[in-house]
Amino acid sequence: MIDTHIHADSRSGEDFKDMYLSGIDTAITCSYYPYKIPHELVLQNHLNRILEFDTKRAAEHGIDLKVALGIHPTNTNINPDNIFENLYKWIENKQIVAIGEIGLENLTDNEINYFKKQLDIANECNAKVIIHTPRKNKKTVLKTILDIVPQHLDEKNAVIDHVNKNIIGDLIDKDYMLGLTVQPHKLDKYDAISILDKYGFDKFLLNSDMSNKPSDPLSVPKTVRELTKEGYKKNEIKKVASTNAKKFFKI
Ligand SMILES: [Zn+2]
Repeated sequence: MIDTHIHADSRSGEDFKDMYLSGIDTAITCSYYPYKIPHELVLQNHLNRILEFDTKRAAEHGIDLKVALGIHPTNTNINPDNIFENLYKWIENKQIVAIGEIGLENLTDNEINYFKKQLDIANECNAKVIIHTPRKNKKTVLKTILDIVPQHLDEKNAVIDHVNKNIIGDLIDKDYMLGLTVQPHKLDKYDAISILDKYGFDKFLLNSDMSNKPSDPLSVPKTVRELTKEGYKKNEIKKVASTNAKKFFKI
């Protein structure tokens, strides 16, 4: 099983252990620094820590931790140049499986400029991107995201994450992969299942987005078990449990 979006740096070894025991073999950890960033070196340290330290920490508990790095929209009050340069290197060296999470939150000029630049880097390097949509003003912010992305990157190379019932109608006919985040205050497992029931299993990825905010490290296995209990077909469940993510991220 694959949890396609977590924040390993803010979680404990016990969480990794429980995830592994519940059937998760692989997780993708995304960059996001939840505190004030007085200087870009702080963000650079956060990214290095994920690459060098959290991957090892997760491996000690059996989890193959893949990495997505980039500048999160709430981390854009910095000079980004060194980080942009590093993104090229990390992609070339296959140290990351995607640029992420990137996206928009408050629609500031920096957010929009850094988002576009990271989409351009992904396009240049044939990389995938994981795009965050905010808790607040989701529909309005999504509209701007959907205006920007196709001008910079093929929709097929992007995941729009934290999708819910209110925005699914704006996305389902496009070529994006769609992330269902089963987390308190986002979706519960029944919300996720009702979306899968209505729209099918082919375009969706499951994740917990476990972070410093209230989260359930086992929300992906719990959703998969519920799908099994409710009698959905094994090969359909497998798509959202692992194969869609394997194909998309080539992992
Ligand atoms: Zn996240």
